[in-house]
Amino acid sequence: MGKITIAIDGYSSTGKSTLAKQLADYLNYIYVDTGAMYRAVTLYGIRNQLIFKENFSSESLIDALPSISLKFVKNDEGKAEIFLNGENVEKQIRTLEVSELVSPVAAISEVRKKLVEQQRAMDNGQGIVMDGRDIATVVFPNAQLKIFMTASPEVRAQRRYDELVARGDEITYEEVFQNVTNRDEIDSTREDSPLRKAEGAIVIDNSEMNIDDQFHVLLQLAQDRIAGRI
Ligand code: C5P
Repeated sequence: MGKITIAIDGYSSTGKSTLAKQLADYLNYIYVDTGAMYRAVTLYGIRNQLIFKENFSSESLIDALPSISLKFVKNDEGKAEIFLNGENVEKQIRTLEVSELVSPVAAISEVRKKLVEQQRAMDNGQGIVMDGRDIATVVFPNAQLKIFMTASPEVRAQRRYDELVARGDEITYEEVFQNVTNRDEIDSTREDSPLRKAEGAIVIDNSEMNIDDQFHVLLQLAQDRIAGRI
């Protein structure tokens, strides 16, 4: 059976990564969470005091790009975790501090160029599910299946808030709502690779859908494409 490329884009906190990973596991495909890569670059910038919330400037981060090395390594449960210069930063990249700076970082063309190159190189033709903001529009414009995920901002903020509280973060729903909507705004209006529904992408609004329902819809679409039925 042929292997295909599946590109999943969409707004922040739509549950893209959970779904994409589930699908990749089921199909035995590679899964890549590209948001983790932008987050890791942001973490590097924060740690090395190259970027700040007030007074954001991209120059020092651009200069530092050659010193940033990213890699995904599978943990004991088979989940790919991101390593920044040899250190597992899977947990550190999910804080609100990183979330607040990641969209300005992702708007920098030099950052995108470096990461898109790495993302394309991860496709070995053996089946891949990649999720992000520009996967179907820029990274894999020839993907056989393109999905655009969306949900109401309130539902998305609530999901992200529940997730962060469950990990023990001290934050308010309002902070999370602000962050989710700010990121959407920056991601959709930036000049380089703005978040858009690609031509031919299928929209899934999961405001009222549970994970199981979403998985079955997506799996059906993937299987149809794999069988060459549509
Ligand atoms: O997917 P996640 O919410 O972790 O992504 C974090 C941020 O990384 C997004 O808000 C966006 O600014 C950026 N991103 C991007 N292009 C991608 C993936 C993520 O610009 N392909």
